[in-house]
Amino acid sequence: MDLSKKILFAGDPHGNFKPLIAAVHQHKPEAVVLLGDYDLDTPLENSLQEIIGLTEVWWIAGNHDFETPDKHHNLFHSALADKGLHLKVTTVAGIRIAGLGGIFLGRVWYPPQAPKWANKQQYLDAQRVHIKHGDDMPLKYQCAIWHDEFQALGELKADILVTHEAPGSHKHGFPVIGELASAMGVKHIFHGHLHENYAKVIKHNIQVFGVANAAVADLAGNTISN
Ligand SMILES: [Zn+2]
Repeated sequence: MDLSKKILFAGDPHGNFKPLIAAVHQHKPEAVVLLGDYDLDTPLENSLQEIIGLTEVWWIAGNHDFETPDKHHNLFHSALADKGLHLKVTTVAGIRIAGLGGIFLGRVWYPPQAPKWANKQQYLDAQRVHIKHGDDMPLKYQCAIWHDEFQALGELKADILVTHEAPGSHKHGFPVIGELASAMGVKHIFHGHLHENYAKVIKHNIQVFGVANAAVADLAGNTISN
């Protein structure tokens, strides 16, 4: 087996899962990692019916997945809800993958600016809303990357970091993501969001692969389907 096809990475499907499904049938990866922005009208498992059971499915969320309560529900309450990689390190096909979903938002934290809130609780307290679960925050805030959670992720070690936002490799990216990867000992970053296939080496010799919308990349960063 071609080891570079052991895991495939899917760029923002925006409702089109066909290239990913075709790539799974062709290459039979052990796992696929979805990089966010699904625009789901029905639960995620419905879109992936053809490949569930053929490969493991893992995911992070993009900003679009918080746009409406339905899109959010169809991801976070899908049959694949427990396959989220956000803010942790998960061993997938023998490789340690760290996940960072969501985007940077001015109203929460927009690096290099200082964070507006130290954490979610501080924000909630300021709204005089006393609720126990982060799930009850407005979707717009759930979509944000929170500074304290980002810092905590940086304490962990991983081989690959998958993000929705781009690192500093892209003109619309954020260098702080490269710093996160470096702290974690990560060698490769895969990201979506910007709808562009590219490969670039950034500081600390970290290899970044952008994966375009509905495109599929392998572990070596080759685009194998789009
Ligand atoms: Zn996006």
